[in-house]
Amino acid sequence: MSCERIQLELVTYHFGVIEDGIRHEVEGHLMGCPDCLRSFLALKRDIEVAESGPRPSPAVLDRLRVSAARELALPEPRSWSWWERPFAFSFAGVVVLLAMGAVSALAREPGSAPHGFVAAPIASSTAR
Ligand SMILES: [Zn+2]
Repeated sequence: MSCERIQLELVTYHFGVIEDGIRHEVEGHLMGCPDCLRSFLALKRDIEVAESGPRPSPAVLDRLRVSAARELALPEPRSWSWWERPFAFSFAGVVVLLAMGAVSALAREPGSAPHGFVAAPIASSTAR
């Protein structure tokens, strides 16, 4: 594989999204070609420095996800619309309250936790 071809594969190699055969060729080439190895290390450094830089906005990330899903022919990731979030949170709150009510109701019945322990009557010293 030529140096130009290797240079084109370095990004996919870095992210590990490369076919096994091509990965072996890239690794073999990097072992014997200081120029390509230097390019790979520079690319790796640039990517890692960029990863520690400012993060993209949520809107950009959403567009990226949709674009990647289209590229990979996956169903588009569903984003919550503005009116669905309050319903989801309300539903979760109602479920939690129902669970708390059920636990409370069960705990009130005689013989149930935490009042299930019934102390044995203590022998009174006054009884003769
Ligand atoms: Zn090379």
